[in-house]
Amino acid sequence: LGKKLKIQAGYSLGWHAIGKEMEVTRTKGNTCIAELDGQPIVSIYKKYLNVIPDKYLIRNTCEFPLVIKRKEMTVARTPSGYTKDGSIYLTSDIHKGEKVRLSYGNPAHILVESFKMCQGMANFEPQGLMAWICGNRIAILKEAGKKEVSYYSNLFPHAIGAYSFAEIMQCSMGGGVLNSSIVVVGMREETIEISQKVSVISDVQLQDKEDIEIPYTNRLLTFLEAITSELEESNRKLEKMATVDDLTGIYNRRRIENVLEYEINKRTKEGHLCVIMFDIDHFKVFNDTYGHEVGDIVLQKVAQCALSVIRKQDTLGRWGGEEFLCVLPDTGIEAGFEVAERIRQTIEKMYFAEVDFVTVSVGVTVATADDTEEMIYQRVDRALYRAKETGRNRVIRG
Ligand code: GH3
Ligand code: MG
Ligand code: MG
Repeated sequence: LGKKLKIQAGYSLGWHAIGKEMEVTRTKGNTCIAELDGQPIVSIYKKYLNVIPDKYLIRNTCEFPLVIKRKEMTVARTPSGYTKDGSIYLTSDIHKGEKVRLSYGNPAHILVESFKMCQGMANFEPQGLMAWICGNRIAILKEAGKKEVSYYSNLFPHAIGAYSFAEIMQCSMGGGVLNSSIVVVGMREETIEISQKVSVISDVQLQDKEDIEIPYTNRLLTFLEAITSELEESNRKLEKMATVDDLTGIYNRRRIENVLEYEINKRTKEGHLCVIMFDIDHFKVFNDTYGHEVGDIVLQKVAQCALSVIRKQDTLGRWGGEEFLCVLPDTGIEAGFEVAERIRQTIEKMYFAEVDFVTVSVGVTVATADDTEEMIYQRVDRALYRAKETGRNRVIRG
């Protein structure tokens, strides 16, 4: 309680997410899941681990906790029981709408991560240290669990600790009631001279290097880890391909349509929503005069230029060819018109090394309370058509 008291707390999990993300779609109270992604949770355990709810449920699932990202922290949950109708109780709280993944623990990695935290704690030079180690770590580390305890007991002989069922750590990074982790709290009241600091053992024997054969499970886990990160990488690429326009790097048509659909559903009765559609004037001339490649460069520059003048809450996408669509949430027609004018004027003034100058014609419309997407598209398209008809390089409200 002294004024000089300094506290450093840390936690380490060491389990890593594997497989796809699932949403908690039905719960029963605060610690019980009935469904993930609309499927009974028991069918998920059956599918991925071939485990059914019986008296061995806890033992058969404890090595594969569900992990949830809460703010910056990854929090684990293991089954603690089941109901007759196929819901599964977890060690601590879980909420509808949270995203979970199964996880696996490679004992070697669990130890490495824990050791790193121990080193960090050693730099803090605590005079008192408390550690809570989840019993689930013993289940997976087996004999090596003693090694984890020894990191702390060797460096901090005055440490006290206990095995736990649910450790608690709450900080600005998130957290709450944890599971499967180790939580340590170091405290000190005096400033310690740097010269007095003990040097930390840097070489921890995590894998017995003299062993020629790597244990089968370690190889299997390395394999799982590798294919999981490959799958995640290809999912990221696919996601990008499905949403980003190759040429300009802004959203593609499909994605901007989704954005508009989302904003229409989100909008309240009084809330405004503006949509801008613009099209490059006489673009065919650039293609015909300077070639398709120069046409492509013009498209890229126009997209970047528009992107640089819209507000951060607005979304720009390529609607097709040389047509662009911009969705402006919480925006009335006056403000929407201003953004449209800003896009038009900035492009008009910009010098293009390849073609000198480019202009765009723009349509802008505000969505009314009972507008469908189709009605908005039609109106903004008609406004754009009128901008073309009445001389181009102008903004028309629809
Ligand atoms: P307007 O002022 O009436 O809009 O005339 P415009 O010439 O711009 O209109 P039009 O729709 O006739 O021409 C659009 C051209 O854009 C036709 C098409 O070949 C070209 N185009 C579509 N997509 C691309 C692309 O990805 N790259 C290039 N270089 N050209 C494209
Ligand atoms: Mg055009
Ligand atoms: Mg066009």
